Amino acid sequence: MSADKTTLIRKEIQALNAYHVPDSGDMIKLDAMENPYQIPGELKDEWLLRIKNAEINRYPDPSAQALTRALASYMGVPLYNSRGRSERQAEGEAGKNSVILGNGSDELIQLMAMAVAVPGRKILAPAPGFVMYSMIATFTGMEYIGVPLLENFSLDMPAMLATIKADQPALIFLAYPNNPTGNLFAEDEIIEIINAAQGLVVVDEAYHPFACTSLMPRLGEFDNLLVMRTVSKMGLAGLRLGLLAGPDQWISEFDKIRLPYNINILTQVTAEFALKHAHVFEQQASLIRQQREWLFNALAEFSQFNVYPSRANFILLRVIDGDASNIFLALKQQGVLIKNLHPSGGVLHQCLRITVGTPEENSSLIDALKKILNSA
Ligand SMILES: *Cc1c(COP(=O)(O)O)cnc(C)c1O
Repeated sequence: MSADKTTLIRKEIQALNAYHVPDSGDMIKLDAMENPYQIPGELKDEWLLRIKNAEINRYPDPSAQALTRALASYMGVPLYNSRGRSERQAEGEAGKNSVILGNGSDELIQLMAMAVAVPGRKILAPAPGFVMYSMIATFTGMEYIGVPLLENFSLDMPAMLATIKADQPALIFLAYPNNPTGNLFAEDEIIEIINAAQGLVVVDEAYHPFACTSLMPRLGEFDNLLVMRTVSKMGLAGLRLGLLAGPDQWISEFDKIRLPYNINILTQVTAEFALKHAHVFEQQASLIRQQREWLFNALAEFSQFNVYPSRANFILLRVIDGDASNIFLALKQQGVLIKNLHPSGGVLHQCLRITVGTPEENSSLIDALKKILNSA
């Protein structure tokens, strides 16, 4: 007798394609929303000294307390809700906000899903959206509902509200700004969704360093709002570190199913070091925001493209004359890797997504595009 994969592994898992990350070799990498800048040389020695002193023979602080405090403070998590101090004391700690850290925000999405997963329960997000929401719905045996965005990528509010009413999703994810479209949804519409939802609404602010706007200050005004951040897009994607903030009544439940030591000691040490030098990352984000404007204008010069404004560190465009997949492949041959969204279909028909790189990388991309499109 041998074990049988077709009966042992859940059907929906067998049907999945593994999350595919293309090998970029030594190409110019403008496909994954990474910050193109390294830790500056003059800070590397200090970082390495901290790494050198890290006690990797010991388990790390299981709840990464020092880092949690530093991140919560840096990211502006309001410690309590907007009610007054005396009211709060009168009702105990009920209005308190808490935070939990994850091995990337991906792990936090998974924790939330695991905590609410009951067969038949649903996760809702606007579509197109971040792929991990639907993948994790499948991992945890939940149903995923993608509500199509309008043509201009704003929320289809009648459809959102009707679906919330009909399907009562346990979790709603709103990426703010949205990936892969790059736009911010209207804040008053997000609030309407929070008020309409019976379940939890997670505002995913992965691109906060480039959006410069946030729902974080409103935490605690609603009992079902959570805000998620990550250090990935600000320049520390290799660390795998995300933060989820919201009312303690939810966070304390998620914390029960978090694996102990999920934030390893090298991540804890490095992130604490990075926060001490947060201005370095803020300067990098500011450069990227400036380059985003440069790249937007340069791309908009091509008559073949319809370029969408972005509040993130990437730009979405639609090829209106020509073929997105051909352009993607031709760029690859020129040594520039971007993301081809055309295969996703729907509103992403003929769309390409380009991460903002360094000025040199962005110029190389534009030069390559000129070669490809002007000789076509
Ligand atoms: C990139 C991205 C994340 C980041 O996930 P990490 O696991 O923290 O790297 C989260 N949400 C959205 C919408 C993203 O685009």
